[in-house]
Amino acid sequence: MTSEEKAEIKLKIISGIDEIKKDIVQLEKLTAPISPDNAIGRITRMEAINSRSVNEARLNQSKLKLRQLENMAINIEKADFGLCVVCKQSIPVERLIWLPESDRCVKCAG
Ligand SMILES: [Zn+2]
Repeated sequence: MTSEEKAEIKLKIISGIDEIKKDIVQLEKLTAPISPDNAIGRITRMEAINSRSVNEARLNQSKLKLRQLENMAINIEKADFGLCVVCKQSIPVERLIWLPESDRCVKCAG
């Protein structure tokens, strides 16, 4: 991995953290408790609850991805950055740029 490639991955990690934090703020608003007073009718409230559980799942996923990206922001400074945590083979740079939160090669991730 060249220092230019590393800088590109670092940039992807930082912008990824920024984006996911914005997503989390939005999703936290969407998953706020639903007040019964706000519902027009029973169906509306059921719909609200359904979309809330979808958004809760998205929120949990986003929080997980944020943790992974924050880990990568720390790991990128380490000497063994870019090595698969499972098999210790180097992860292709293209994969790290495409999916900066990945700490496994395609084989081990699959
Ligand atoms: Zn691997």
